[in-house]
Amino acid sequence: MNVPVLAECIDRCDVVIHLAAAVGVRLIVESPVNTIETNIKGTENVLMLANKKKKKVFIASTSEVYGKSTHVPFREDDDLVLGPTHKGRWSYACSKAIDEFLAIAYWKEKHLPVIIARLFNTVGPRQTGRYGMVIPSFVRQALSGRPITVFGDGTQSRSFTYVTDVVSAIMRLVDSESAVGQVFNIGNGKEITILELAKRVKELAGSSSEIVTIPYDQAYEEGFEDMPRRAPDISKIREAIGYEPTLGIRAILEKVIEYERKRGILETNNSEIGHLR
Ligand code: UDP
Repeated sequence: MNVPVLAECIDRCDVVIHLAAAVGVRLIVESPVNTIETNIKGTENVLMLANKKKKKVFIASTSEVYGKSTHVPFREDDDLVLGPTHKGRWSYACSKAIDEFLAIAYWKEKHLPVIIARLFNTVGPRQTGRYGMVIPSFVRQALSGRPITVFGDGTQSRSFTYVTDVVSAIMRLVDSESAVGQVFNIGNGKEITILELAKRVKELAGSSSEIVTIPYDQAYEEGFEDMPRRAPDISKIREAIGYEPTLGIRAILEKVIEYERKRGILETNNSEIGHLR
């Protein structure tokens, strides 16, 4: 991280919206040192520099901090239930929980105005498939006719939120004085199992791909623990800013499929042009 550049950017801005982090379960499992250091040092620097100028800071946290809790839907004041330290996956949740603790400490001790939001699976066109996130992975597999890879038995569920719903919630939280010093869930209350998601992607993409299941040990690492369910209670943010997600899973998948179709055509054209040169 380039601290002088960060200091200059913070000097010039009105509000700091800190979204940068190491994310994606595959990346976390493969590069735990990078994950922990990026997430903790990055936020430490942002808060330290913002505090010098007393600039309001928004910190993006994650639904992952709820860990293995079975108390679904998750509320902001619930206990966090994390796995053991030798299972790399939990280092991400822990690093983001430390970010939250530090932000709240800056608010309580130094009166730095901070707002924290726990983002649930946020998706939309242009999400990278590089770190194995499920929707871009399934859509690309479906469009190319490759097998759609469901990890575990597919009974685990998630709730997906469209990126613009999340962006508008962040902007409204930042404008709300009563949000300062608080933690909010940003998500969509509707859950879907991963097997059902695979079927929906296949159907909407008009794909003939096979849906296959892959054991977690092979998909990630030996002894990998997944979260069986993950859905937010959104009453706190609804009350604070009148938040309501606007797009359901069908509309989200249609947008991602349309985008990935165009991207696929562009890539094919580019590689053909490259071939001709
Ligand atoms: N998943 C899957 N196949 C894939 C990628 C992911 O079955 O190719 C599953 C993954 O095991 C998890 C869910 O889909 O249960 C969501 O995964 P993602 O990495 O998108 O986000 P997470 O909720 O794990 O942060």
